[in-house]
Amino acid sequence: MDLEQSLFEVETGNAGRENLTFLLGLEDKTEKETLYKRAYAVKEKYIGRKVYFRGLIELSNICQKDCCYCGVRKSNKNVQRYQMTEEQAVKSAMWSYKNSYGSIVIQAGERADEKYIAKIENIVKRIKEESGGHLGITLSLGEQSKETYQRWFEAGAHRYLLRIESSNEALYKQIHPADHIYADRIHCLQYLRETGYQVGTGVMIGLPNQTIGHLAEDLLFFKSIDADMIGMGPYIIHKETPMVDSFVDFNSLKKRQFELSLKMIACARLLLKDVNIASTTALQALKATGRELGLLAGANIIMPNITDTEYRAFYQLYEDKPCINENAGDCIDCLQKRIEFIGETIGLDEWGDSVHFSARNS
Ligand code: SAH
Ligand code: SF4
Repeated sequence: MDLEQSLFEVETGNAGRENLTFLLGLEDKTEKETLYKRAYAVKEKYIGRKVYFRGLIELSNICQKDCCYCGVRKSNKNVQRYQMTEEQAVKSAMWSYKNSYGSIVIQAGERADEKYIAKIENIVKRIKEESGGHLGITLSLGEQSKETYQRWFEAGAHRYLLRIESSNEALYKQIHPADHIYADRIHCLQYLRETGYQVGTGVMIGLPNQTIGHLAEDLLFFKSIDADMIGMGPYIIHKETPMVDSFVDFNSLKKRQFELSLKMIACARLLLKDVNIASTTALQALKATGRELGLLAGANIIMPNITDTEYRAFYQLYEDKPCINENAGDCIDCLQKRIEFIGETIGLDEWGDSVHFSARNS
């Protein structure tokens, strides 16, 4: 197998696991550059040299789940738990609106009690009303019943992010407690699609025991469920989790995690073409210019953190999370410069919906 052949197979929609594994395994610097450039060309063709912002509101770190990799898992007693008030969440969203972000993402630990469901419903409704329907709303609030997804959709949310974390069921089991069921997650992704959301999923990259073959299968999984949006990022260790022992020398793996993440973004762009792909903050955690490099490898979405500084330190899913002492205003200036530097423009005041979703529904 060679580079040109594999790129051709992926670009023409004929890629199998072997082609993707080949691309994810590239080591030669020039070959890796070729992969990123080809992915960038596909992004340019389908989406343009444009980045869309989603202001990220980390609503609460209270979580009923116990995912083995996550710093805010239920069993971590060292976390100071918080939840924003309805007022604070709406205020953050309106800040995004006034600063032309176009869209927001509300993310939090998972909860499924009626009080919480109603709170989210109100927040979404109020943001819709107060922004005159102009602000796009994405939710990332974990596994819920179909009715709950429906209520939040009717309130005004139109995109939902739920990572599969790993599409390999055995690997999924390794990184979750026994009562976190893989099939439930798949059902949730189906409910979201049936409800009418633009559906986003993704995986963590560089998990213990995860091979590039697994990652190739993850990419094919995204295609098989016809995902509209992809959010993937490197797995980053958190010391207060059971997975801390899985890595002996995490630092030496950081470079590999980072490169693998870029290759995954590039392969996702080549394979899925017109979907939205996020360049995640976790990439920036491994390298200061990580998010820009993600854009150059084919991503088109950035999620600037607009959570109030007072809460940021408590929402640490992984360690070395960047910008926990910044406020939302600092993030805008910093990002704008970074994006202009690589010759892209920001789609201000636009929703930046998944072209893939629009094409499927037209
Ligand atoms: N509770 C919701 C949303 C918040 S978690 C949910 O789980 O869907 C959002 C994402 O953070 C998760 O999907 C997971 O992929 C990522 N995450 C959690 N811990 C992480 C870690 N240690 N390194 C990298 N990403 C992590
Ligand atoms: Fe909770 Fe999400 Fe972390 Fe799992 S990944 S423990 S659901 S916040």
